[in-house]
Amino acid sequence: MHIWKPHAPNAGRRRRVIEVSCCDEYQLCSEIPQYFVTRWDKTGRLVETGRSDYSTAVEAWLALGAQHRQWHRNRAAS
Ligand SMILES: [Zn+2]
Repeated sequence: MHIWKPHAPNAGRRRRVIEVSCCDEYQLCSEIPQYFVTRWDKTGRLVETGRSDYSTAVEAWLALGAQHRQWHRNRAAS
């Protein structure tokens, strides 16, 4: 389970989008030296999860991407 909180940019650092997932659902981002995943919530607010080193953030990124693909499969099957 991922905990999403409002995106809080570090002072003076810009969010760099490294990769965007299917449907633009999630964005893998960095504010060197930290990495995290963002998405836009239902109210249009940018939220983030898993702010950490690269490998931990990529783990969250891959898990979320897998969830998203599963969602597509469920929709296609119903
Ligand atoms: Zn998709």
